[in-house]
Amino acid sequence: MSENRFDLIVIGGGPGGYVAAIRAAQLGMKVACVDKRGVPGGTCLNVGCIPSKALLQSSHHYEHATQHFAEHGIQSASLNVDIATMMARKDKVVMDLTKGIGFLFNKNNVTYFKGVGELVTSDQVKVTPIDGSGEVTLHTANVLIATGSTVSPLPGLEIDEARIVSSTGALSLDKVPASLVVIGGGVIGLELGSVWRRLGSDVTVVEFMDTLLPGMDQDVRKQMQRSMKKQKMKLKLSTKVTAAVAGADGVQLSLESVKTGAIETLQTDIVLVAVGRQPYTSGLGLQKMGVALDERGFIDVDEHFKTNIAGIYAVGDVIGGAMLAHKAEEEGVALAEHLAGKASHVNYGAIPGIVYTWPEVATVGRTEESLKQEGVAYNVGKFPFSANARARCNGSTEGFVKILADAKTDRVLGVHIVGAHAGDLIAEAVMAIEVGASAEDIARICHAHPSMGEALKEAAMDVDGRAIHV
Ligand code: FAD
Ligand code: NAD
Repeated sequence: MSENRFDLIVIGGGPGGYVAAIRAAQLGMKVACVDKRGVPGGTCLNVGCIPSKALLQSSHHYEHATQHFAEHGIQSASLNVDIATMMARKDKVVMDLTKGIGFLFNKNNVTYFKGVGELVTSDQVKVTPIDGSGEVTLHTANVLIATGSTVSPLPGLEIDEARIVSSTGALSLDKVPASLVVIGGGVIGLELGSVWRRLGSDVTVVEFMDTLLPGMDQDVRKQMQRSMKKQKMKLKLSTKVTAAVAGADGVQLSLESVKTGAIETLQTDIVLVAVGRQPYTSGLGLQKMGVALDERGFIDVDEHFKTNIAGIYAVGDVIGGAMLAHKAEEEGVALAEHLAGKASHVNYGAIPGIVYTWPEVATVGRTEESLKQEGVAYNVGKFPFSANARARCNGSTEGFVKILADAKTDRVLGVHIVGAHAGDLIAEAVMAIEVGASAEDIARICHAHPSMGEALKEAAMDVDGRAIHV
């Protein structure tokens, strides 16, 4: 086989693309991955999941030390934040993980091209290397588009990554802003708003809807609103930003109440725009190739991730659905296995979602509102962490576990957790939904004591009205 002839060329080296490339190579395909970023890992590793979690951890340590050490009888002298060191640590975490993907590419014989990929035909991809060397044309049996997403702009606000930043800029500020206005009370808004609030910024979240985290279960939304307010995050719900004027001293924002039309202005150091993300498809040659997009610009695919053009597939953020790294990875694996002639599918009903705030939010499956809307009969079991012994020992009693189970079959339909380590606890619930377990199954499993996981067991028992510790 010639050097530039492949079974699969993956355009985009994020969680969807790099995982598909490795799995396809494991299955015996000759694979290339083209990414223009210069380092693999995509949004997630470079400017998303990983740097945000590194900063959430650092800022959590600081807040914990300043706010909670004293109640444990630990006296600490005055504490200071050294942003340069914090950022350097975050950058090292990112660098080590992206290097790890380079290592995995080598191990699995995936050929990695640092360049912009563009479809020429369904079996040819042109690569324009980022180092300025000459274009290369690669030949392939199949192409996978995994080019991800980019920040959605807000009309009237120009993101300059200095005063008006996207999540990328908010992950690399060189000092703690005196004030920060976050536009969008979704996942990015709460995670990055939390980072800077913990480090001392006066944070205001402006959200268009009348709730934070729209789309999540109502009990989760209510709890998170309480928790964020308690942490002195200012919330302006049902409010939209109509204009922004950036100057040397900061940004002046014009706000309008969605409900009353009342207008106000807000002066702030930094503005973070976090109103969602949109598919990234520019420069790929999709229009020329006639690849069909939906009305929101996502690439249309069938259940095997095939576009309307034979031999061209797409996975991850660029096809829409939950914009999550693990969803992209599942799709990447399923696609590679499908190309290798194996049976494969992604169970979209069992994709967990986590918000890495304090307390954390973790959810999987159906919300109570969606069950009501569809007229599904269900039972609810709930257990507060304030009644969990481990949570009391740890001093992290905020939140609850909520289980929704089918009223007829007792099958678990949805699990919603707000609390410390919710992101780890949810794995048991994902397993329950994946295997079609009942609430009774969870209730009958022995959970170690004292552990936060006991709250899941108790919530499952509460579905049948027999929780012990409340
Ligand atoms: P991406 O990761 O976006 O990768 C696509 C890659 O393709 C990019 O490197 C891009 O440069 C490259 N590319 C685009 N066009 C071309 C081209 N023509 N040629 C070559 N290369 C190209 N998800 C979670 O599950 N957990 C989290 O904690 C989490 N935190 C996040 C925090 C932030 C701040 C952000 C912004 C996102 C976060 N996400 C998180 C979402 C997650 O990053 C995405 O869902 C995930 O990265 C999608 O993977 P992907 O492979 O589809 O695309
Ligand atoms: P999001 O969809 O989570 O939140 C956007 C918020 O902005 C919504 O609450 C929306 O109502 C609000 N909004 C929209 N337009 C507005 C306007 N004009 N004014 C005020 N508010 C407005 O999107 P995001 O927070 O930008 O995150 C983007 C994607 O990245 C998400 O899909 C998420 O899945 C992913 N992500 C995941 C994680 C994680 O898994 N922990 C972390 C960060 C990002």
